[in-house]
Amino acid sequence: MLSVEGLCAGYHQLQILHDVALHVDEGEIVALVGANGAGKTTMLRAVSGLLIPTSGSITFAGEPVVGVHPHELVRRGLVHVPEGRALFGSLSVLENLQMGGWIHGRKSLEEDLDAVFGLFPVLAERRNQPAETLSGGQQQMLAIGRGLMARPRLLMLDEPSTGLSPKLTWAVLEAVKVIRKHGTAVLLVEQNAAHALALADRAYVLESGTTVLDGPGRELARNDRVREAYLGL
Ligand code: ATP
Repeated sequence: MLSVEGLCAGYHQLQILHDVALHVDEGEIVALVGANGAGKTTMLRAVSGLLIPTSGSITFAGEPVVGVHPHELVRRGLVHVPEGRALFGSLSVLENLQMGGWIHGRKSLEEDLDAVFGLFPVLAERRNQPAETLSGGQQQMLAIGRGLMARPRLLMLDEPSTGLSPKLTWAVLEAVKVIRKHGTAVLLVEQNAAHALALADRAYVLESGTTVLDGPGRELARNDRVREAYLGL
């Protein structure tokens, strides 16, 4: 579904990603783990069309991604929930969700809202409340819900557990499992390797802009290098 090969990208003269390869198949949860500054966000930005790579190829559903406008990529089902959530703080929960669904017009809006409220009932309770008044966990749910309103085939989540208590982190990650069960593949960027590896079907470890290890999540969680560097064991 998503295939990245030989990807090099960075900012101005600074190259961050060096020859990265990665793929996500239909219905998979794939994690990308790595330390601060390893290039995980840069990778998601390149895939979602926000950053033009210097070389390499990215294809989604068999179509090239590089050079395609980010809005068009969203229309094709490639949806990025950025780190920091980027919500419209003064707008209500409902308005934020509606913004996520605008790309498909009014037809499917009610149905998609029902699906998001089913996944995160607290958002239904707070639908008229400004987004900025929600707790951190609720804001993360809203950011994911807004992404789901765009009907993703692949949902890319950047650090969804940042700033959340362990309990809320698990609630968000449990929601990721439900999202996959409904047929959406997920590419999950996480600094919290323990959570990401427990959840993911497969995972990649990114170090200094290069993937150094990949394999089934649970297998990587037993790898000595991963245990020492990312799991603190
Ligand atoms: P983090 O978890 O800290 O976000 P990350 O693995 O997602 O880490 P990136 O955000 O991709 O890492 O950053 C990789 C490198 O690129 C870092 O050295 C960072 O300082 C640099 N960088 C990120 N954004 C920019 C930018 N807009 N301009 C210049 N350098 C940047």
